[in-house]
Amino acid sequence: MKDYRVLLFYKYVAIPDAEAFAAEHLQYCKDLGVKGRILIASEGINGTLSGTVEQTERYMADMHGHPLFGDLLFKVDESDGHAFKKLFVRHKKELVTLRYDQKLDPNTDGGGRLSPAEFQQYLQRDDVIVLDGRSGYEYDLGHFRNAIRPDVDSFREFPGWLRENMKEHKDKTILTYCTGGIRCEMLTAVMRKEGFEDVYQLDGGIVTYGKDPATQGRLFDGSCYVFDERISFPINHTDENVVVGTCYHCGQPTENYINCADDTCHRQHLCCDACQDKYEGYCSEECREHDSASAAAVR
Ligand SMILES: [Zn+2]
Ligand SMILES: [Zn+2]
Repeated sequence: MKDYRVLLFYKYVAIPDAEAFAAEHLQYCKDLGVKGRILIASEGINGTLSGTVEQTERYMADMHGHPLFGDLLFKVDESDGHAFKKLFVRHKKELVTLRYDQKLDPNTDGGGRLSPAEFQQYLQRDDVIVLDGRSGYEYDLGHFRNAIRPDVDSFREFPGWLRENMKEHKDKTILTYCTGGIRCEMLTAVMRKEGFEDVYQLDGGIVTYGKDPATQGRLFDGSCYVFDERISFPINHTDENVVVGTCYHCGQPTENYINCADDTCHRQHLCCDACQDKYEGYCSEECREHDSASAAAVR
């Protein structure tokens, strides 16, 4: 067993005076010594954090003792150290930024839920459509086989993208999935408002699917993108796993994500080791030139 753990969790539940709760929770997390990112809104909580086994045990026990979070589900992973450098506990208007024009309550408006084993069965039917509920760059590192890649850079682009690109699938059975499940709570609610009748979300997301002994992560190709220092995470534990990520420069298979070395660009791109040396971490010649020009200007 490793010394550290990473926790992933969310719950949509009405939190009275969420702003005060966020301030209180920040102090509690500081005192406990965990690191990570926790968002608190009047509609609920969404967080991922890292800490020692003792710290994370304590966190889970304290949350389960809270009247609002007694049934909060934690996804737990072992880790060699902290997966985050800092601690953020923030009050936000929405747990996932969507700015949809109608009020949505995922507890009543969302789609059906499939367990990992059920989801795997549905994946093997040829009359279902599988839609990735994440951004394009997450899909590029790994995704369920035959899933549709949404051409979006942020979650709030989804409603517009759906109207443009999914119209012809309105009467089909559609499966959605995301990292831990929270984005699908909102995505399936939006889809139902937009007239998609038969929509199901993967309960607990890709992370839960990868841990389920019944699925062994089968039919997930590549690795799962995660928003912490690990960047990626293995899901498929069968011998069928493949690398689907390809180098932005040369097209060779790679799972190495880097940020462009030019601070004004910072484009996150998949880059093989050879190209990382060759292009010195820049995503383009323009960025390399721009950076050396601005360095010269500073001098
Ligand atoms: Zn390359
Ligand atoms: Zn760049």
